[in-house]
Amino acid sequence: MTTFDRPTRQAPAGPGNARSLGEAELAELASELQKLPKAELHRHLPGSYRLQTLLELAREYRLDLPTYDLEGLRQYAQVQPGTPANLGHILRTVSTFLRQFFVTREAIARFAFEMVEDAWRDGIVYLESRFSPWVLSVAHGHSFDDVLMGAAQGVAAAQRLYPVQTGMLLGVTREAGLAVASQLADYALDVAGTLGVVGVDLAGDEEMYPPRQFAGVFERIRADGRLGITIHAGEAAGPDSVRAAVETLGAQRIGHGVRVIEDAETTEFVRARGIVLETCPTSNVATGAVGSFAAHPLKPLLARGVAATINTDDPGWFDISLTGEYLVSLTRLGLTFDELRQAAIHAAAGAFLPDPVRAALVARIGNAYAAAAPRITALLSGG
Ligand SMILES: [Zn+2]
Repeated sequence: MTTFDRPTRQAPAGPGNARSLGEAELAELASELQKLPKAELHRHLPGSYRLQTLLELAREYRLDLPTYDLEGLRQYAQVQPGTPANLGHILRTVSTFLRQFFVTREAIARFAFEMVEDAWRDGIVYLESRFSPWVLSVAHGHSFDDVLMGAAQGVAAAQRLYPVQTGMLLGVTREAGLAVASQLADYALDVAGTLGVVGVDLAGDEEMYPPRQFAGVFERIRADGRLGITIHAGEAAGPDSVRAAVETLGAQRIGHGVRVIEDAETTEFVRARGIVLETCPTSNVATGAVGSFAAHPLKPLLARGVAATINTDDPGWFDISLTGEYLVSLTRLGLTFDELRQAAIHAAAGAFLPDPVRAALVARIGNAYAAAAPRITALLSGG
């Protein structure tokens, strides 16, 4: 099995870049990318945290941790270089370890507040975050309302300080079974349009629980029409899973979707329907969905006209930022700045926002990238 290697700053030249960049140039490029307004569509709230916060919550709630040393905590709370590149392994270790911290509504609010604060510092102007009310409720006996209210409270507090637009997606967990999926769908429809809820997501073990099992549940959400639908697919399973997510569940967006590239017909199907792919470069390598950064399909997907985007998935687990993923896309995935601009615009255009608000976001991002293009392309070509 391959293992995960964190992208280094000393990145080799990608196929789209004429030369290798030195450390100072990379730092300058990162600073330019950080300043650009960015939209992120795929970020899990329980995968977004600061290590320091975990320690403080452990002290506050007297949680039993294997270590109370900040650096020591990394091996439990973050995917480490050398970890098997396997989604199941990461879910069983990092994700399970982290659930213990979502102890109270206040703790959930703190995670949400810091997620938005960190996003703002990263230059994100629109953030859609997601979580499964079920996962966080079974871990601590919270109600779905407790979890959503906590998250909404934290987001609202951050928005009083930072002008980040946000949306919340409620996750249906495949492993919880159909009865819970159905309860979650009812709940999502009850709260649709309130507390920032703009859509639903289907997450979990894609191989064991293929999309069509949930057709009935998603049919109600489709028929209602108020919530956007995104489905994790084409990550652990292949192109058929993506097609089924679109055809049987009504997905407008696909979480990851990187494996569509294995089949030209499915890639064309996704392009023709305008389905947005939420790719997550570091996550995709860490989970083994793609073999390496060089093999990541973001560049060929964009070249084929697919609305592919760049996201972090779980910035806490992987110790990354969206700016860092943009940098990796340029230096390791071989994107040109024009391709990066396209991905950034696809993200804005894929937001689950009312049409005029979304159009304003697309225009804002398009203008900022056009203005930055001469500077950044010069940096990339050594000018
Ligand atoms: Zn995800």
